[in-house]
Amino acid sequence: MELSILTLCYLVGSVTFIIGLKMLSNPATARNGNLLAAAGMAIAIVGTIFLYEEDGKKLGNYAWIFGGILVGGVIGTLAAKKVKMTAMPEMVSMFNGMGGACAALISAVEFDHLYKSYKTIDSAWLADFVPAGMYLTIIAGAIIGSVSFAGSMIAWGKLSGKIKDFSFRGQHIVNLLVLLLVLAAAVFTYQYNVGLALILFYTTVGLALVYGVLFVMPIGGADMPVVISLLNSFTGVAAACGGFLYNNKVMLTGGILVGAAGTLLTILMCKAMNRSLKNVLIGSFGGSSAAAAGKKDQGAYKEITLSDTAVVMSYANKVFIVPGYGLAVAQAQHACHELEKLLESKGVEVKYAIHPVAGRMPGHMNVLLAEADVSYDKLLEMEQANDEFSTTDVVLVLGANDVVNPAAKTDPASPIYGMPILDVELSKNVIVNKRSMKPGYAGIENDLFFQPKTSMLFGDAKKVLQDLIGEIKNL
Ligand code: NDP
Repeated sequence: MELSILTLCYLVGSVTFIIGLKMLSNPATARNGNLLAAAGMAIAIVGTIFLYEEDGKKLGNYAWIFGGILVGGVIGTLAAKKVKMTAMPEMVSMFNGMGGACAALISAVEFDHLYKSYKTIDSAWLADFVPAGMYLTIIAGAIIGSVSFAGSMIAWGKLSGKIKDFSFRGQHIVNLLVLLLVLAAAVFTYQYNVGLALILFYTTVGLALVYGVLFVMPIGGADMPVVISLLNSFTGVAAACGGFLYNNKVMLTGGILVGAAGTLLTILMCKAMNRSLKNVLIGSFGGSSAAAAGKKDQGAYKEITLSDTAVVMSYANKVFIVPGYGLAVAQAQHACHELEKLLESKGVEVKYAIHPVAGRMPGHMNVLLAEADVSYDKLLEMEQANDEFSTTDVVLVLGANDVVNPAAKTDPASPIYGMPILDVELSKNVIVNKRSMKPGYAGIENDLFFQPKTSMLFGDAKKVLQDLIGEIKNL
């Protein structure tokens, strides 16, 4: 009877994951989708803790389980409450890494059980007792989980500016060799003296951790979105291995959904940057080569005053706002929405052009603008926006840089060459708001700022927008 209730809990969990994921695809339903999937997860966890039985025995260990949930729950809640919007990508990387670590730990625990059962049998291989499928599931969870953990920690360090890109000549060969060593150690763990299996298992895990670090270290500049979604899919696959191992349907469903969603996102991000995955992984795109792009003599840029900006925007027919990472830094999304409403009250048509890798995480700008209640149908994807720029009077670039850099189209030497960008220069006027002439994430200069149509409006995005709103009201 209890088993069937548990099965029902898993069914509810699996269904809520799928519906929740579907709801995440629309900003209007995303919040509820997240809550729904979390509720499903809670049902599955509580069901497992109280209803799961093996050989007629319940799980027990309640103090450890609830102690762990309490500690993790408090840390997670505080981290989520305290995190600044701009630090969200780092946190997502960190949490993703924790998921990978959990999957690797599950494998380590299960491997330890196997080892303890057979370690005293002399001169035999683990392969003599353990079915290949079971070993494969355990070792795959350990390797993929470890790579995901180590890689996500490096991604966390890079996104938070604590770790710099690092690569050396021949690194891709070294990476490949380390990967081969990981696989060799995994084979030896299974097909070697069972007494040494534990040491070999941890050697495999250690090498996988080294591989995770080496794999993400050289990937720099503009390629991080692809790596983040790839690591996300790794964690999903590692969790699915746990689901196979325990024959646990909800863990399997959750893992497969995360793995599949991460893989699709990786493909979409590669497409958005017009690059193949192979190229991302071995290309060091926008990393060390960014420095090689160097500074070139761009000529002069021109500045625009707030009052002139107010006039140009108020008398325009159509305005596009291009949000970027700086908008998130300044937390200017509410001021931005206020400007949009003010301009619309003056009869100006206002839309937003959203680049798929603007900000520091996939969907960053959508989340940011949704927080300020900007209507979803005002957000145009890159291709749609590019079709409309030629009929636009003013494009206001707010804290965006790489995603509007024409070098991606015109300069084959540029580390971002080939990445599709927002063609803002097709509009009649471009006004760029940022605090200085400093480069963006990819570390390269932007030709757009020096073009005749472009005017720079320097200052913190929030302050500038608030002052601009004041100016427009006084017109
Ligand atoms: P960029 O990082 O290229 O540029 C942001 C600009 O905002 C900077 O040039 C900065 O200039 C300006 N800025 C910073 N703070 C403020 C502020 N308070 N007020 C006004 N301006 C400010 O951002 P984009 O969004 O254009 O591009 C995103 C980049 O990040 C791409 O290279 C992308 O590949 C990468 N990336 C994206 C991820 C994703 O998943 N979306 C993940 C990881 C990386 P200044 O200092 O002069 O003010």
